[in-house]
Amino acid sequence: MKPYRAGYLPEDRRAIERRLFSGELLGVTSTNALELGIDVGSLDASLIVGYPGTIASTRQQAGRAGRGQDEALVIMIGYNDPLDQYLMGRPEYLFGRSPENAVIDPENPYLLAGHLRCAAFELPLRREDAEHFGEQTLPILEILEDLGQVNRIDEAWYWSTTDYPAAQITLRTQSDDTYTIMDTSRGNQVIGVVDSISAPETVYPGGVYLQEGETYLVRDLDLEARAAYVERAHVDYYTQAVLDSSIRAGETHAEKEWGGGRLRFGDATVTWRTTAFKKIKFYTQESIGYSRLELPAQHLETNAMWFVPPEEALAAPGEYGLKAIEGLVGIRNVAVNMLPLLAMCDRLDVGGIVDSSNTGTPTMFLYDRYPGGLGFAEKGFELFQSLMEQSLETIEKCQCEEGCPSCVGLPITQPPQQMDLDLGRGYPIPDKEAALVLLSHLLGRKPHVPAGRRRRRSARRAPREAEGVQEPESTELPSQMSVGRQVARRLRQGRRGRVGL
Ligand SMILES: [Zn+2]
Repeated sequence: MKPYRAGYLPEDRRAIERRLFSGELLGVTSTNALELGIDVGSLDASLIVGYPGTIASTRQQAGRAGRGQDEALVIMIGYNDPLDQYLMGRPEYLFGRSPENAVIDPENPYLLAGHLRCAAFELPLRREDAEHFGEQTLPILEILEDLGQVNRIDEAWYWSTTDYPAAQITLRTQSDDTYTIMDTSRGNQVIGVVDSISAPETVYPGGVYLQEGETYLVRDLDLEARAAYVERAHVDYYTQAVLDSSIRAGETHAEKEWGGGRLRFGDATVTWRTTAFKKIKFYTQESIGYSRLELPAQHLETNAMWFVPPEEALAAPGEYGLKAIEGLVGIRNVAVNMLPLLAMCDRLDVGGIVDSSNTGTPTMFLYDRYPGGLGFAEKGFELFQSLMEQSLETIEKCQCEEGCPSCVGLPITQPPQQMDLDLGRGYPIPDKEAALVLLSHLLGRKPHVPAGRRRRRSARRAPREAEGVQEPESTELPSQMSVGRQVARRLRQGRRGRVGL
């Protein structure tokens, strides 16, 4: 067996391919590079580790084997998280349904501004192009003109800077703010990128950055230059960011009743800051240190859906001495992991917060982890009934006693390179019974009665979200404000101005 990945030198890759085809190697362990890099027609079996995120990717990865005349065997091994475990218990989901909800919002100002900039770079844009780009085209072109990106001459907008706009758009994440990760021990060689939303929780100073099984120590995070400087270091621990996050609900775009409570979809600003990190020893999971960090708060203006449960539902867990807030946090944890199934997005594309400072009562927020939103929370709003039914089923099917990362535990929201199967252990796991009592009540199911022996459980430490939200001091970093964000903000201001008139 040999590992195979894109980071290898081409001659090394060709050598591995030759040995694989000749049968000298029994197999390779590979990243997605194998699909793109070589013709794998001769493979008999494929082992997929973890659900790739969509049914389409699962089939594509399964197709690495069996491209020749013979039949092939494909095995998918589920991770220990709610989404994978849901699929493990429901094979018919994978085999029985093909369509996935493609979430595309062509009016998204962040994406549209990027498209229009790239289009203007190719050819001057005219009024009639709004037929293809939508009714936001002209307002955005006018804003781009104000920003000095395009020039209007004779009813046409010409690209007017020396920038190459396509270079600022990555296909990996839709957000055009990215941080470059550079290895100072190898002459600042670029070894990766991370989107700006994940950067402060991934590459904070003193933290351990994991890539391809190697450990790097983060020496510096330059917020101005959007760069993280790391250095190869052999350490026997990894680090876990301690985040302080809060959410402010903005204008509501849609609203309905659900489960006796209110469900809303609208604008929201998420603020978060890495306040500290924990050092955790590999294998033993022993906590070996804790360091405070002084990083400025980050802001994300996005879309969110939020659910305010009715009072009687929140009172239900209390009848058994359970805490409703823990139940709601548990439901949030499952929902964040189940929403990607309905919205066809990655687990890292959505976030969730339980907060009571916005509505005066514990409220569950699910939001898009992209500036301006990409429609995922909106899908959650539309399909909330299914989202909650699937969440209940996941918790009920889980064979754990008190809650685990496969059900109500905090989902792993670290970028894949930081993903550690045991990471969930470091998080407090909310009360599974409280989640079941609350969710059964909301769905109008037979009331869930927790096992009697657990009625007098010792008080658990409530998850941090339950303790109310303090508004962290914050500094907006103007250099981080992308063109897309400026366009979205100006469009919003324009809309509000019109409403005011
Ligand atoms: Zn469980």
